[in-house]
Amino acid sequence: MNYGFTREELDIRENIRKFARKEIEPLVGRMERENRMPDELIKKIMEMKVTGLPFPGEWGGAGSTFAGFLLAIEELSYVYLPCSFLPLVSAMAAYGLFRFGSDYLKEKYLKGLLSGSLKGAWAFTEPGTGSDPKQLHTRAVRDGDQWVINGVKRFITNSALADVAGIFALTDNGVSAFMVETSNPGYIVGKREEFMAFGSADNGEVILENAHVGKENLLGEEGRGFDILLGVEVFAKVASCAGNVGLARAALDQAVKYAKEKTHRDAPIGFKFQMTQWNLAAIAAKVAASRALLYAVGAGIDRGEDVTLDAALLKIFSSSAAREAAADALQVHGPYGLSKEYTIERLYRESKFNEVVLGTNEIQRVIAANALLRSGKGLQ
Ligand SMILES: Cc1cc2nc3c(=O)[nH]c(=O)nc-3n(C[C@H](O)[C@H](O)[C@H](O)COP(=O)(O)OP(=O)(O)OC[C@H]3O[C@@H](n4cnc5c(N)ncnc54)[C@H](O)[C@@H]3O)c2cc1C
Repeated sequence: MNYGFTREELDIRENIRKFARKEIEPLVGRMERENRMPDELIKKIMEMKVTGLPFPGEWGGAGSTFAGFLLAIEELSYVYLPCSFLPLVSAMAAYGLFRFGSDYLKEKYLKGLLSGSLKGAWAFTEPGTGSDPKQLHTRAVRDGDQWVINGVKRFITNSALADVAGIFALTDNGVSAFMVETSNPGYIVGKREEFMAFGSADNGEVILENAHVGKENLLGEEGRGFDILLGVEVFAKVASCAGNVGLARAALDQAVKYAKEKTHRDAPIGFKFQMTQWNLAAIAAKVAASRALLYAVGAGIDRGEDVTLDAALLKIFSSSAAREAAADALQVHGPYGLSKEYTIERLYRESKFNEVVLGTNEIQRVIAANALLRSGKGLQ
């Protein structure tokens, strides 16, 4: 299908596709066995400057489009989803700084994040909540020219890898966001999370113990942290859906490959069994629909439109489509799909995640339904 991408966007896709297949693919087995990502690979990924793609040159970005960024995340995710988290989560911190940060903070952190010399984290979730600001426990208290932050964050991607983290904490008049350097003695990396997938990705606890930051490290206005969280979440949500599309495309390709290789009485199952063909077509339909929706929402962001409703719909659809695609692709493999010898086993485990992260799909349904009810305009 022709989605009308520009030459530059197609070049980004080709470049990252080649990179991911050459540098990441050969290491996937090892990363899965060892549950870690080699430092050299992390360095190479950051050197591809994916984080900086959708940001203007003024702050060190590539000045490309958001669509180009989506294509890059999709290609990384096609090969190995955990590797896409590095630039994606750094881009969350970068987007927060770009939209809400002072020139001082932009100069100090944004340029480094966009060039790939710094890695970012974005920490809202706590043991008690990942979506409700009223249930936050982390507190920031003003002490002269400084803020002192105390609390515990959980499920934080890049918690140990990041150089700088956006930290959400309660202040006297609501939730506020702060940029905290991870070299701060009060930023302590806690337990690393063990999930059913993504073992090689860095995700864990952050303990803030009397973390002192200068008053200039407040991101945006005091008490407006939840607006910052929501603003960044729309950007990140859409980018994470590029991960759904990359993963679903990989599941489709694995299913087609297996259906051609596996024979039944000398005939490939893909040509012999209509049930197998049914599965292949069903997966392809979901991939095509997710992809078209992703690119349409990405184009809306590039036009500066408010995509709050569209982003929620995209996440609801594409995250479930990716899970269903992976499940159907595993089914095509029969029992071999359960074996770690086949890529689909990993894709199946990874495919559940985006239904529950970055605002669960229940929360997305609440967002979508409220937008529809309030606007009364339906889908334009
Ligand atoms: C791999 C991974 C990476 C992550 N990375 C980060 C990160 O970098 N930074 C970060 O801050 N967080 C991160 N998270 C946390 C994640 O984004 C949150 O846990 C997630 O958004 C869910 O929030 P919660 O924990 O509050 O869920 P809960 O609110 O506890 O949800 C529990 C259940 O209740 C339902 N529910 C809650 N509220 C409502 C409602 N109003 N209406 C209907 N149903 C509701 C939910 O849908 C869910 O089924 C990560 C999580 C994972 C697994």
